Amino acid sequence: MDANSNTGWRERSLRHVWHPCTQMKQQAELPLVPLSRGQGPWLYDMAGQRYLDAISSWWVNLFGHANARINAALVEQLATLEHAMLAGFTHAPVVELSERLAALTGEALGHCFYASDGASAVEIALKMSFHYWRNHGQTDKREFVCLRNGYHGETLGALGVTDVAIFRDAYDPLLRHAHVVPSPDARDAREGESAREVAQRAADELEALLQARHGQIAALIVEPLVQCAAGMAMYDTHYLTLVRALCDRYQVHLIADEIAVGCGRTGTFFACEQAQLWPDFLTLSKGISGGYLPLSLVMTTDRIYDAFYHDETVRGFLHSHSYTGNALACRAALATLDIFRDDDVLNANRVRAARLTALLAPLATHPRVRHFRQRGMIWAFDVALDTPAEASAFARRCHAAALARGLLLRPIGNTVYLMPPYVLDDDAQTWLATQTLAALTDTLEAH
Ligand SMILES: *Cc1c(COP(=O)(O)O)cnc(C)c1O
Repeated sequence: MDANSNTGWRERSLRHVWHPCTQMKQQAELPLVPLSRGQGPWLYDMAGQRYLDAISSWWVNLFGHANARINAALVEQLATLEHAMLAGFTHAPVVELSERLAALTGEALGHCFYASDGASAVEIALKMSFHYWRNHGQTDKREFVCLRNGYHGETLGALGVTDVAIFRDAYDPLLRHAHVVPSPDARDAREGESAREVAQRAADELEALLQARHGQIAALIVEPLVQCAAGMAMYDTHYLTLVRALCDRYQVHLIADEIAVGCGRTGTFFACEQAQLWPDFLTLSKGISGGYLPLSLVMTTDRIYDAFYHDETVRGFLHSHSYTGNALACRAALATLDIFRDDDVLNANRVRAARLTALLAPLATHPRVRHFRQRGMIWAFDVALDTPAEASAFARRCHAAALARGLLLRPIGNTVYLMPPYVLDDDAQTWLATQTLAALTDTLEAH
């Protein structure tokens, strides 16, 4: 078999690799792309064709592929300590990472608990919240609240607080159901209503629930500012202010799931900073390792931590994962934080974001585009489609049309979004804006 052949690798992959989030029968006709390497924002297939990774490989890659600085840090770590168990042991990368993250919250969230993937971090936050109340003798507080269209991962516990039908419905009989309250999605504004008023209306419904059931509710979990998996639903900062106050009033924990929106994605390092508040638990994953290695963590307060600190073993948080605090992953995260600091990334992104938004103006005013929106380094718009058949095929067709142009897009339903790594130069930005418009035109003209 030709080592440079896409076809050969495609066939071998389809025989033995069960791909995620994929109906494998459709994958036989769709162009599965076998990659040979990555460089910066580009991915290269076996035949040498390149693709701009405009969605940061499922939102994880912040500083491009094969980043020289992260690579160097990992090579050094590899020669020192690759991994060791974190119970009974500790090491410089996990200590330094925890210190630096705690400092980024002004020590408000000064305790970091580690896992490997995002869903596990969500489950840890849910368990910690329940266990906190239990340690305080409030054993009835065992229910959770999530937002309509919220997404928090796909293991059974995380799915219980997820409200995205396509991931959830088949497994519904297996789940412990959470209370689902309205999303503050700004697109749901009624005639003449502002985004802030939508937020108020959503918070009012949350308050009615908390009033009735706060004795049974342990925590509310939200994706701050942008519900990404729902199709980049953006909402007013005011909602976070309101829910923080409600959670305090009704003695319910606030879990901020920043797995997708953290690490600078919405313009500040943590999305919660924009509302000038901290949650009781904050989850991070995806971008924290620069998109290099699986790493997730839950940050929490002294108050939560102290409730577990006790002579009795079982009052402690006895949760563990084999790769908890993996040294290589923590080192990749430290290298990622170094880049944020050394390159003044948050300010550089402000300039990048303003430029790309201007370049995308033809899309914002396109006759078939609705709700063009942007927050930090996330852009999204919805495409008005004529028929249900057109709508159901849109995401797949648009993905294929973009790939044919050397662009990686993965629309969610009729929502097209860009979530590029923080490394696009002016030329790459111009190219991205032009090709996104062209891919949309190709998709709409194809039938
Ligand atoms: C991706 C995501 C998760 C789940 O993370 P995995 O690593 O895929 O398990 C949880 N919450 C949010 C907001 C996410 O975007």
